[in-house]
Amino acid sequence: MNSNVQRPRVVIVGAGFGGLAAAQALRRAPVEVLVVDRTNHHLFQPLLYQVATAALEPADIGYPVRAVLRRQGNARFLRGEVTRVDWAERRLRTVDERVIDFDHLVLAVGAVTADFGVPGVATHAHTLKSLEEATTIRAHVLEQFEAIDRDPAVIGSGAGTFVVVGAGPTGVELAGALSELIHTVMARDLPDLDVDSTRVVLVEGADRVLGPFDPRLSSRAREHLSRMGVEVLTGRSVTRVTPDAIELDGGEQIATRTVVWAAGVRANPLAARLGLTQERSGRLVVDEMLQVPGHRGVWVVGDLAAAREGGGALVPQVAPAAVQQGRHVAAQIVRSLRGEDLAPFRYRDKGAMATIGRHAAVAQLPIPGTGRSLHLSGIVGWALWLVLHLMMLIGFRNRLSVLLDWTWSYMAGDRAARLVLGRPQDRRADRAVPSLGEPDAPRAAA
Ligand SMILES: Cc1cc2nc3c(=O)[nH]c(=O)nc-3n(C[C@H](O)[C@H](O)[C@H](O)COP(=O)(O)OP(=O)(O)OC[C@H]3O[C@@H](n4cnc5c(N)ncnc54)[C@H](O)[C@@H]3O)c2cc1C
Repeated sequence: MNSNVQRPRVVIVGAGFGGLAAAQALRRAPVEVLVVDRTNHHLFQPLLYQVATAALEPADIGYPVRAVLRRQGNARFLRGEVTRVDWAERRLRTVDERVIDFDHLVLAVGAVTADFGVPGVATHAHTLKSLEEATTIRAHVLEQFEAIDRDPAVIGSGAGTFVVVGAGPTGVELAGALSELIHTVMARDLPDLDVDSTRVVLVEGADRVLGPFDPRLSSRAREHLSRMGVEVLTGRSVTRVTPDAIELDGGEQIATRTVVWAAGVRANPLAARLGLTQERSGRLVVDEMLQVPGHRGVWVVGDLAAAREGGGALVPQVAPAAVQQGRHVAAQIVRSLRGEDLAPFRYRDKGAMATIGRHAAVAQLPIPGTGRSLHLSGIVGWALWLVLHLMMLIGFRNRLSVLLDWTWSYMAGDRAARLVLGRPQDRRADRAVPSLGEPDAPRAAA
């Protein structure tokens, strides 16, 4: 045990859903908790697409970790990026060479976007995993409309075509929200815009959208997307992304300046630096208790953990799973401090939801003990989606702010968060404006 502290020290790396749930569940435990995160905020990733499409402000879905832990006497926060762990000494190091000792370690650093080796994704596509990325997409999309306003001919070279790759919940929600932004807000903001010449294209490698959902809900989602003007291409793979186009299997090209890659995730690269066993997508192998085999007191939760449901399928990488795992690990740490036997983790599936636009969402909610699920769609699914997401947000201010923004959008058909900061030539897409005699900067990935 750590010599210079009275109580055992639990270090939690990552203040996402899993890490924060573990920290909060330890509030009455006789331990010192240190939460380390490379950002200073907890991020509600399920609503990132709304920041990217100007419906919400970044501060609506981010919450300072220090504010979350303020009233928790046994917890502290450190902003730092963890780069390695010395298992023999039981200490970890941050990028600025800070050394942190631990008695228990909870690894909760989540996942990153996977490009599956497709050429051009890393340099020319946008990803949606952080607030910086969401605001970059927002600025980029809005800049396309400014460029079209200055010179409508740029529509022909892809300025009016927005491609989303991956039709899981994130891709479906983003494509629907982009279409709404164009057909409601942009159509009004730019009176000369020929809305019919813009396109939102959703590309999916599998044969249907929302693969994990019941096929009937997938069909309803697809129909609704089509009614909203989204072109849905299923069974098609993107083989290359260039600055001005995507290439599909078979060689077909779609001219576009905007590609958002929402096709999947892989484990945080930190996992590969720890010398622990990883499964195929890089997730760290854990035992039933969520402990790393052979490393007592080292736990993994959330998207990073290769936890299995009853020894079978991998637990899905979703927020409720991360929260359940965080709480479970907190309880096991307390048990182990008391010398009690550890309990295995049991995942409780809370179902899945995706909203497709105003008045439309699909939801698949398991009915406990029956092996069946309740399917909702349309306005009922949408209302449930709104309520659940509001409840899941951290902080009263954020809930109120999101509620106000949604109400305003609903009543006024407007999007409040449409400021673009910086000069036009700083932006990836806006090559139409050589500004103030400065050379036109080469296009770089945002
Ligand atoms: C766009 C998007 C939409 C989503 N929509 C949904 C949805 O609708 N419903 C749902 O259930 N799930 C959704 N998810 C998935 C859900 O967000 C994740 O399953 C969940 O966030 C996993 O929680 P976690 O604690 O494992 O990791 P995260 O919440 O990702 O937290 C990881 C934390 O670790 C920190 N970190 C990373 N590396 C380091 C390091 N080296 N050192 C220190 N800190 C580090 C990060 O800053 C972050 O705060 C979505 C994800 C995305 C990206």
